[in-house]
Amino acid sequence: MSAPTPTPPKNTAALDFAKPSNFLRQIIETDLSKGTYAKRRWAGSPGDAQHHAAAALDPAKIRTRFPPEPNGYLHVGHAKSICLNFGLARDYGGICHLRFDDTNPEKEDTEYVDSIVDAVKWLGFDWNGAPDAAPYQASDYFDFMYRAAEYLIEAGHAYVDEQTFEQMRAARGDFGKPGVDSPFRNRTPAENLVQFRAMRDGKYEDGAMVLRAKIDMASPNINMRDPAIYRIRRATHHNTGDTWCIYPMYTYAHPIEDALEQITHSICTLEFEDQRPFYDWLLERLIEGGLLDAPPPRQHEFARLNLTYVITSKRKLAQLVRDHHVSGWDDPRMPTIVGLRRRGYTPESLQLFAERIGVSKSDSWIDYSTLEGCLREDLENKAHRGMAVLNPLKLVLTNWDDVMGKDHLEPCTLPALPHPPEGLPEPAARHFTIGKEVWIEQDDFCEVPPKGYKRLYPGNSVRLKGGYVITCSGCEKDASGTITAVLATVVPDTKSGTPGSETVKVKAAITWVAVADGVAAEVRLYDRLFLDAQPDASGKDFLASLNPASLKVVTAIVEPSLARARPDEKFQFERHGYFVADRLDHTQDKPVFNLAVGLKDSWGK
Ligand code: ATP
Ligand code: MG
Repeated sequence: MSAPTPTPPKNTAALDFAKPSNFLRQIIETDLSKGTYAKRRWAGSPGDAQHHAAAALDPAKIRTRFPPEPNGYLHVGHAKSICLNFGLARDYGGICHLRFDDTNPEKEDTEYVDSIVDAVKWLGFDWNGAPDAAPYQASDYFDFMYRAAEYLIEAGHAYVDEQTFEQMRAARGDFGKPGVDSPFRNRTPAENLVQFRAMRDGKYEDGAMVLRAKIDMASPNINMRDPAIYRIRRATHHNTGDTWCIYPMYTYAHPIEDALEQITHSICTLEFEDQRPFYDWLLERLIEGGLLDAPPPRQHEFARLNLTYVITSKRKLAQLVRDHHVSGWDDPRMPTIVGLRRRGYTPESLQLFAERIGVSKSDSWIDYSTLEGCLREDLENKAHRGMAVLNPLKLVLTNWDDVMGKDHLEPCTLPALPHPPEGLPEPAARHFTIGKEVWIEQDDFCEVPPKGYKRLYPGNSVRLKGGYVITCSGCEKDASGTITAVLATVVPDTKSGTPGSETVKVKAAITWVAVADGVAAEVRLYDRLFLDAQPDASGKDFLASLNPASLKVVTAIVEPSLARARPDEKFQFERHGYFVADRLDHTQDKPVFNLAVGLKDSWGK
């Protein structure tokens, strides 16, 4: 197999922002300048020392990986990790691997596998060195992991422990107290090998014994007190079926996965910091034994993303879905990648977010408004404008028939983008009409205006944006006193864009849609899912702070260009915010829009 060359970056043309340095970039740059990994070979697929030995030098300067467990949908925290790992590989001439960490036989599901593949692609990344390459699977390395375990036993670095789980836990000690050696610790390698093979051959019950690394029961790092590395577990694995009844522990499997894939920089979140000594210990032993190549991958930790008003625990997100607090994993209020996508987030906005928040070594909270700001920034010059009336109130132009002609409809036009990006073709203008009756927002009329109110009230004039100047004359009410229509007169010769139209000065322009060509649309107005900025911090019951008003559905009236939206198309509803035509429910016959983000930050208030 020939070694693949790194693929050029995708989907990054629109991202033109400075990339601040960070500690991970500095580590990589140091390794590159010292040539730490320059002599690595790559046989075109993962494998042990022998597999890579005869191959050419690795054309990838670095190798990183994103190793999700396929046990749930990815969320905004994973998006940070994806952008980080794939972004570093891209920026330094490397390759990032997508690897399913599927060593736990109980938890995997193809639904999750597919959603993870989709999410990484959608974010704009290719993996494993070629477009459409298959993701790697940790379970493909079970044979090697087993062989490595036998090697550790033979070299006196591992033993089978037949103590019960409780005995082992009690003997492990704690921070202040060193552990106590197991009575099985000094078995000979030959005895251990017999027992380990018996474990593999199904001679013992689940949980009857484990294989442990033999390191140091007095280590100040509890993870180094002879950690378990293999356990007996009778479970059918989605990839290997019933081949195995013993499975490697995560802490043992992960360094091996990295090493077989010739990963150079294994980047993970801070909770794995205490595992690093074992990561290094294991790989050093296997290099000594000639099973793996030097230099080994190195683990580097960064602080996970904590975002205000958001929870990212998979278990808690699953609970929101299961108990119907949201409509599914892709509910637009969910912080999952499918949820964010349905909400109107773009890959570029999430990449921008990941760059902007950077990486650090200490935990902190990122303000949700930072995420929203990135979406606004991305959509500002991309999302076509349109007028939508979210709380419609009818306005009747009482002199229209006399001035304009009975039932006349006057064509109007406005640009799709006020500032079209340079170098791109200017999008076609929007066309709509104005007639005797138009829809306006309820709060754009006030019978008795408060001080400073500049919109419609009896005697005041405003411009209907892209249409005419009108002067309010009053309103109509029903028997209960509710306003049913606003009355106004059109000022002739003031149509936007016609000569002399600006001679009549007004203090405000309001948005509107004509009754004649407006289209009813379902608009889903989303707000934060939780009222507490740290919904699950320090063991809080996150359900207690669910926002009862996180979704409000209104029937809006939208201009014709909006009704023709394609699913997933984003718009700026003028004066309201950015909206997306729902990916699943929107049709041109029955338009459905989701609020992606308002025009201004409302989170700080
Ligand atoms: P679990 O709780 O099921 O272990 P997890 O969030 O650790 O879930 P994984 O599928 O193991 O999920 O994660 C894949 C990768 O994403 C890991 O490398 C992990 O470090 C990273 N990751 C997960 N959550 C975050 C987060 N909030 N911020 C940054 N990276 C994250
Ligand atoms: Mg995990």
